[in-house]
Amino acid sequence: MVAVFLLAATVRGEWLLLVVLLGKSRLQLWYAQLCEVIEEPSGHQSLTNRSGEGGFSLDRYKLQNVHLVIGFSLLTSFIMFYTVSWGLQWIYYIKRRDKPEEWKCQPDRFLTPDNERHEIFMGSCNMALGAVVSGILATYIINGGHTTLYYGLADRGYLYLVLSIPGLFLYDEASAYYYHRMYHSPLLYRWIHKAHHRYGCPTAFSAVAMHPLEMLHYQAYLAAPAFTVPLHAGAFVGVLLYIYYYGMIDHSGIRFDSIWPWQEPSVFHDNHHRYFHCNFGANTKLFDWLHDTCRRKDRIYGEHIFGGRGKRKESSKQN
Ligand SMILES: [Zn+2]
Ligand SMILES: [Zn+2]
Repeated sequence: MVAVFLLAATVRGEWLLLVVLLGKSRLQLWYAQLCEVIEEPSGHQSLTNRSGEGGFSLDRYKLQNVHLVIGFSLLTSFIMFYTVSWGLQWIYYIKRRDKPEEWKCQPDRFLTPDNERHEIFMGSCNMALGAVVSGILATYIINGGHTTLYYGLADRGYLYLVLSIPGLFLYDEASAYYYHRMYHSPLLYRWIHKAHHRYGCPTAFSAVAMHPLEMLHYQAYLAAPAFTVPLHAGAFVGVLLYIYYYGMIDHSGIRFDSIWPWQEPSVFHDNHHRYFHCNFGANTKLFDWLHDTCRRKDRIYGEHIFGGRGKRKESSKQN
């Protein structure tokens, strides 16, 4: 579980914001020194100073030395991603492959080798994309760019701090539900979201294996509060890590129960992959319950049965 958490925490590079939180001024000093060490001896003009008339200036966009942050983000993300994903594969999918009924959500199904290769490839591409986007955002914030994140615990009062956490969680959950449901409309499903549903019995790699446009959209709505709503940086990153952690757990294909009353066990999202158009929520059943889109045993589901509520078994018999 710890390993999966580490994977989830590093997959999209938001850990860089956590580093910013831990010591913004010290980090900026260290960062400036690192840039000097790397760039001055070569005698080349620093990217930071590339602000000639009419020329492109990273300075202007507060992205000076973005390549360093992106490089670091990519390197650590890939090391962790492969270490932990292959670790889970080894522990469950290889060593315990002969006893899937003991641990697997769908004991009678495994991905085909072709789909396994595909999800590793797509997952890796999207992880790289996520690490680059996160690296750019983190560079912008490190260099003093606009953000509504604040760093002092008491800056806006403790009541605000405490209430902002469930508030942010609800925003993320509502966004996940409604955008996910939107992607399950026939056209968007066929054009974009179907790529993620290629994996009927997902593994940890599947969590980020999706259409790149969906990945970018996903990142955009998760990052938006950092630029629009005053939030403590620790609360913001903490909620993101929680979401990423359960994103990995929910796609692992391994039966994990939750210790939180609001959090669904991993089989909830595994069933979304199995039955397609139901169980749209990311972490809770709340919005599925409100819109009656939880998977029901008396309904028939399938890739071509849209709407979220399946088909009545009686009517299917008549057809
Ligand atoms: Zn879906
Ligand atoms: Zn999924």
